[in-house]
Amino acid sequence: MSKERLFQLVETKKDQYTKVSDAIWGYAETRFEEEKSSRALIELLAQEGFAVEEDVGDVPFAFTGTWGQGEPRIGFLGEYDALGALSQKADKAVREAIIPGGNGHGCGHHLLGTASLAAAVALKDYFSENNLTGTIIYYGCPGEEGGSGKTFMAREGVFDGLDAAITWHPGNTTAVASGSSLANIQVYFNYIGRASHAGGSPHLGRSALDAVELMNVGVQYLREHIITEARVHYAVTNTGGKSPNVVQPEAEVLYLIRAPKNEQVKEIFERVIDIAKGAALMTSTQMNYTIDKACSNLIPNEVMEKLMNENLQLLEVRQGSQEELAFAAELQETLTEEEKSATVRSLMAQYGERQGRAMIEEYTKPLLNDKMWPYQTSEKSMSGSTDVSDVSWLAPTVQCSTSCYCLNTPGHSWQMVAQGKKDWAHTGMLKAAKAMAGVALDLFNDPAKIKEAQAELQERVGPKGYECPIPAGIKPSKVR
Ligand SMILES: [Zn+2]
Ligand SMILES: [Zn+2]
Repeated sequence: MSKERLFQLVETKKDQYTKVSDAIWGYAETRFEEEKSSRALIELLAQEGFAVEEDVGDVPFAFTGTWGQGEPRIGFLGEYDALGALSQKADKAVREAIIPGGNGHGCGHHLLGTASLAAAVALKDYFSENNLTGTIIYYGCPGEEGGSGKTFMAREGVFDGLDAAITWHPGNTTAVASGSSLANIQVYFNYIGRASHAGGSPHLGRSALDAVELMNVGVQYLREHIITEARVHYAVTNTGGKSPNVVQPEAEVLYLIRAPKNEQVKEIFERVIDIAKGAALMTSTQMNYTIDKACSNLIPNEVMEKLMNENLQLLEVRQGSQEELAFAAELQETLTEEEKSATVRSLMAQYGERQGRAMIEEYTKPLLNDKMWPYQTSEKSMSGSTDVSDVSWLAPTVQCSTSCYCLNTPGHSWQMVAQGKKDWAHTGMLKAAKAMAGVALDLFNDPAKIKEAQAELQERVGPKGYECPIPAGIKPSKVR
């Protein structure tokens, strides 16, 4: 019955969690500017008796809340950053910004940070009731989106001494997360040329914009000759001005390179640097580059995943109300035909075409679907990245997703923002909190499991151990 009591302890305080997640949804602060969002979580943690330490690792708005003492030390990871240009009114099935061009919670991190906090608090309440010992730590992790906050925190030793880490991500479906994610590096390439009158004295000018364009062409040719799983994206962050009659004296391009393993990212990065140098030579400009951020590939942990699977199975499968389903149907009409088949395609990708097809009815109808996807271990990498990965090199780490949004809702979309304060999102958040608290309780109750999970981690990481992909001296950066 202990799990029942633990889950009940999450429910008892559900109003405070709904309130704080709605507040963070409203603040919608982007990476390393999460002043109000972190404050809301810090205040709640302090009120619940956790000892709070702010600006840990000298990362803006990173904090920890610790309760209890001694071994083991189990951590919950929380995020609370929003995304740019996704401002959207809640509960609206049409695109309507609150602030045109403003930020919005298009990845559900207002729920993410709150559920992890709810798990920590419920566990603390359970410990108090049963006089248990051990250390519960909540990690407030800013700047996940394009910022790699946890990687900076990892570099500064914030996660040292942690025995296991637990987190989740709001999703359209409920599942144990397995498999890896792509390592990445984000780098600014800056060119300096010489300004000149583009008509009168073009021969005296050296165009930095030409260098950026030639670099992009070079990388375009590179793409054919790198592993297919790798991704190379770019954004021109400085074109050198808006005057075509001036030879552009400076220009800048931001590259994001992803691949399944840290070494592969490094290797591609070296080749991109050579291309960047080539572009400088071709245009007689000067090139320098600055690493903005990076993160590692995720180290999955089957011991932890199995525990997550057991705990998720203990929880009730929710059904959407008529009203909720009607809203989901309205939102569905805002999606393209291709987007509408996203869940079906994921089923096929995960379980193979034959089994996937047999699962369509059960798992893709109704549109609000909390039925847990059967747990399946995977060594494959998803095509995105997460800074949870850097924690996963240091301590056995597990994640789940719970259904907080209707099926087929694209990630980083206004449709996701519009659903962020719905009951469905709140109950998904509480479900995740229960599953995470359950995993932690299992670990506290059975230290041998922690040892087993740590042995698996060691085997996967190998003797070289963790090397932070962000070099010393690089500081976390806000959205520019
Ligand atoms: Zn995201
Ligand atoms: Zn996210």
